Amino acid sequence: MLEQGTLSVNTENIFPIIKKFLYSDNEIFLRELVANAVDATQKIKRLSSLGEYSGELGELQVEIKLDKEAKTLTISDKGIGMTAEEIKKYINQIAFSGATEFVEKYKDQTKEIIGHFGLGFYSAFMVAKKVEILTKSYQDAPAALWSCEGSTSFSIEEAQKEERGTDIILHIAPDSEEFLEKARLTNILNKHCKFLPIKIVFEGDTINNTEPLWVRKPADLQDEDYLKFYKELYPFSPDPLFWIHLNVDYPFNLTGILYFPKVRQDLTVSRDKIQLYSRQVFITDEVKDIVPEFLTLLHGVLDSPDIPLNVSRSYLQADGNVRRISNHIMSKVAEKLNQLFKEKREDYAQKWDDIGLFVKYGAVTEEKFFEKVEKSILFKNIENQYFTLEEYKEKVKAAQTDKDEKVVLLYTTDPEKQHTYIQSAQKRGYDVLQFDTVIDPHFTQRLESKQEKLQIKRVDADSIDKLIEKAETLESVLSESEKEIVKKVFEEVTQNAAKSANRQVSVAIEGLPESEMPVVITQSEMMRRFKEMNVGGAAMMGGAMPEFYQAVVNGNHALIRKIATETDAATQQKLAQQAFDLALLSQHLLSGKSLSDFIERSLSHLV
Ligand code: ADP
Repeated sequence: MLEQGTLSVNTENIFPIIKKFLYSDNEIFLRELVANAVDATQKIKRLSSLGEYSGELGELQVEIKLDKEAKTLTISDKGIGMTAEEIKKYINQIAFSGATEFVEKYKDQTKEIIGHFGLGFYSAFMVAKKVEILTKSYQDAPAALWSCEGSTSFSIEEAQKEERGTDIILHIAPDSEEFLEKARLTNILNKHCKFLPIKIVFEGDTINNTEPLWVRKPADLQDEDYLKFYKELYPFSPDPLFWIHLNVDYPFNLTGILYFPKVRQDLTVSRDKIQLYSRQVFITDEVKDIVPEFLTLLHGVLDSPDIPLNVSRSYLQADGNVRRISNHIMSKVAEKLNQLFKEKREDYAQKWDDIGLFVKYGAVTEEKFFEKVEKSILFKNIENQYFTLEEYKEKVKAAQTDKDEKVVLLYTTDPEKQHTYIQSAQKRGYDVLQFDTVIDPHFTQRLESKQEKLQIKRVDADSIDKLIEKAETLESVLSESEKEIVKKVFEEVTQNAAKSANRQVSVAIEGLPESEMPVVITQSEMMRRFKEMNVGGAAMMGGAMPEFYQAVVNGNHALIRKIATETDAATQQKLAQQAFDLALLSQHLLSGKSLSDFIERSLSHLV
């Protein structure tokens, strides 16, 4: 029997298109063919266990063989095989029209489909000039050989094959000879087939672990197993902090293990480490369209046959299953955090510096997540104690409630640099928090918008009296005319300073306690936050946006009183300059010529 025919009379020749448009990702052919071999193997296992097949199963492995001389690559399985009729039905008709549809739909948007999933058997023609299928069905029928040379015509004939199963023989095209290299193939198999459920053997070596951790029962596993698996996935990463084993089968199917790595300042390094599988076949490590963005900071594997992989990425988020899956993952992550907080508070607090950024990032970007973890978010003060927001408000509210009944939380982004300000706050009996992650400006904004009676300010956002405004404030002892004099002198000084640095400084006279600095430099919380949250925007304006500061002159300080009554203009100016420079110095804003001048001026008073 020899039959020749045309795959389809109506469609154009899709082979050149297949070859061209998936070229950048052509290695996926191997995943598709091995996955088919695994499917066929699992089918015979199932038939056998159902009693519908009573023959010997034999060793059910998939073998990949390379023949460099003949320039062939063969994928062999001992699965259900196909009869000639089945080849015609499944390969010539169903698979071909499927491939045609796939190509038609995606030929203009190559990058968009997840892992180029769904092209199936015909992806073989990305790398082969000729493909043969030699197959013997588990049913009583002669073996068949199908052959196609990358055009729409094929031939099919009876063949010799004793063993049940299928060999897919690829005659590798001259431009694809990289796929005749053992190292290249090993690489692809390790990436896509490492966890397939049926043993895969390539040139004598077993490629896969057929029972990866995520398909096993959590109850059977120890911490060491999870840590070992993590090392298997990311050989060079430090140990994760904790993990979640996902296992759902209704209303969608999802398994996987998500690990919490240490997430420090750099949000990009740990990203894109989650691997997505579909029934243990590796698909992609780009899951950002499948889970909320902040979750891409986690590591691990997700496995779900319910994520539609053959739709374009832009459709994904609208897909009901994808939404449910992503909500489920988010809930599980929140649950895990809440559980750790409740059951192992101390351990949790210790880990907070490494997970806080992640949690806050999630809180800022996903409202639902924020609501779920709100009570497990911790705040660290400069004594390195950790509090929940409620605990902390309780702690500070007596000292830090302002005249409008708002509790004002104070924070520092750098306890070293902002030391003078922290000291002032502590003298007042205030407590100071530490905010040091890139997400904090966004997070504080978010928190304030949710909590009506709450305000959050950096310690240097205002003079100590204005930072938390009380009903009674000190008055300046200066007379109105003295205030005028002082203001004028300082305005001159600050204007001179502004010329050299790109900053604007306004002057205000206040009556601070005598023990405070004569001049304090502040930057309003709003200004600074605006700037921090628009780093990109400011850079776009050429970085030309000036910095706005306030010089708060302490009308009650002895030095200021001296300046107010000084009659010699030069001395007056010098004193003001010195007071202003000291203020700049404590804010780390004094540099260059101003700093040299300051040092010289200071020294001249000593000798
Ligand atoms: P899909 O696997 O998505 O159905 P493919 O184009 O990869 O699409 O394969 C088409 C069909 O050809 C399969 O559904 C199966 O019936 C048959 N087939 C492919 N490879 C094998 C194989 N190794 N053994 C038995 N049947 C196979």
